[in-house]
Amino acid sequence: MRSFSALVQSKALVNGNWIDSSNSATFEVRNPSSGEVIGNVPNMTVSDAQDAINAAKQAYESKEWRSLTAKDRSNLLKKWHKLIEQHSQEIAEIMTAESGKPISESKGEVAYGNAFVEWFAEEARRIYGEIIPSPVANREIIVMKQPIGVAALITPWNFPLAMITRKAGAALAAGCTVVVKPSEDTPLTALAVAKLAEEAGIPKGVINVVTTNKAAPIGDLFCKSPDVRGISFTGSTEVGKLLFRNSSDGIKRICLELGGNAPFIVFDSANVEKAVEGAMASKFRNCGQTCVSANRFFVQDGVYEKFVTQLKQRVEALKIGDGKANDVQIGPLINQMQFKKVGGFVEDARGKKANVITGGKPLPSIGPLFYAPTIITDVPATAQLYTEEVFGPVVSIIRFKDETEAIQKANDTRRGLAGYFYSENLQQVFRVAKRLEVGMVGVNEGMISTAEAPFGGVKESGVGREGSHHGIDDYVDIKYICMGNL
Ligand code: ADP
Repeated sequence: MRSFSALVQSKALVNGNWIDSSNSATFEVRNPSSGEVIGNVPNMTVSDAQDAINAAKQAYESKEWRSLTAKDRSNLLKKWHKLIEQHSQEIAEIMTAESGKPISESKGEVAYGNAFVEWFAEEARRIYGEIIPSPVANREIIVMKQPIGVAALITPWNFPLAMITRKAGAALAAGCTVVVKPSEDTPLTALAVAKLAEEAGIPKGVINVVTTNKAAPIGDLFCKSPDVRGISFTGSTEVGKLLFRNSSDGIKRICLELGGNAPFIVFDSANVEKAVEGAMASKFRNCGQTCVSANRFFVQDGVYEKFVTQLKQRVEALKIGDGKANDVQIGPLINQMQFKKVGGFVEDARGKKANVITGGKPLPSIGPLFYAPTIITDVPATAQLYTEEVFGPVVSIIRFKDETEAIQKANDTRRGLAGYFYSENLQQVFRVAKRLEVGMVGVNEGMISTAEAPFGGVKESGVGREGSHHGIDDYVDIKYICMGNL
């Protein structure tokens, strides 16, 4: 194993102790660009995860955490933010090594992810209650917000840092303690930021990190344990549904950020140059592996040829390779499963008479997990590329005639996370923004995520919102106190 950063950890964090798995098992972390093993981390068991829950519960009830004021918690988050900022280069290198993400994007993610720590450091002091006028004399209605307790946070590999800080920042601001279960593909970034949380002085047991490549039984424990009061999950719709079902018995607070199937509509009224720019940003960031990536492009007749021609030129100019190089824009897919899925979707569309106008093939000369940036036109509604989230560098284009048809097709999915459209017509902008069945709309904009705005979906894309002041809601209970006989 090559130690490329002092921040790379080979142990998990439970109750302030950096520990091995109780059965000493480990699993390898590989660089998807090269296949090289870059780390080994503990393969924690269900009983280790139970220890982490116990530690989080104990920490939640401890004086060191409970007695802190909102301002104290805010200050701890600020220190954590500062340390992440100071180590942003090292964290970005770890992230690129374990996720394949181009280094420029990893640096961008550290800044984006750290913005949640800063934001929630600020929000910690603004978790206000209410005093409501009482209908009865000599009474006061007081409403306060209290932390829910222990929260389990399950995060994916596509944003190895931001998905943790977006959850943990809010949870800690509210006064909760957490058990983080990072993705098996990207545990090193998670451990690195946990190390910095420790250095920031966040008390032991407040943040615990359980690494494992056997997520299901640990997820099940989180769902069943009465000591876990909330679960926040970002990942596949399939696993999200499972967690929703399994946690129903304990009536847990649940926040689910699941897959999308984002429409990207280019109307005749669009500025095509801007639409192409937005399409590149929305589709090719992280090699198309984000849940808000545009998945289906609907382009109106009048601008169709122009949009497709310009987009093709841009796609063919993309620089593909190992994310370590500064000028690389497209890295590998994260793992073999994703690689097979992307190739399979393209073949499925080809078989259904769609037109591959560029790409459409693996790039084995660069590495086993690289897939060519691809544009496919005339994608039928029966193709997997249309009905499912591709999570890869594939643009699927569908032609349409009028606004009604575009909206009907855009909404023709059980998912509803992000949606984008380009139009310079003000009336159309309001009409379409209101009618898209999604949680987030980008109007003439392809990249919309920011700590200040509420991130989340409708339909089967999830419940709850992360970021913004709404991001605190999943981690607090509302308590009504009736003061009588005053
Ligand atoms: P992706 O397709 O993004 O890998 P997953 O839903 O498989 O989506 O993974 C997201 C996170 O959920 C990862 O941390 C993974 O380990 C975890 N996970 C996978 N299966 C389960 C499960 N049955 N219970 C709890 N967590 C799970």
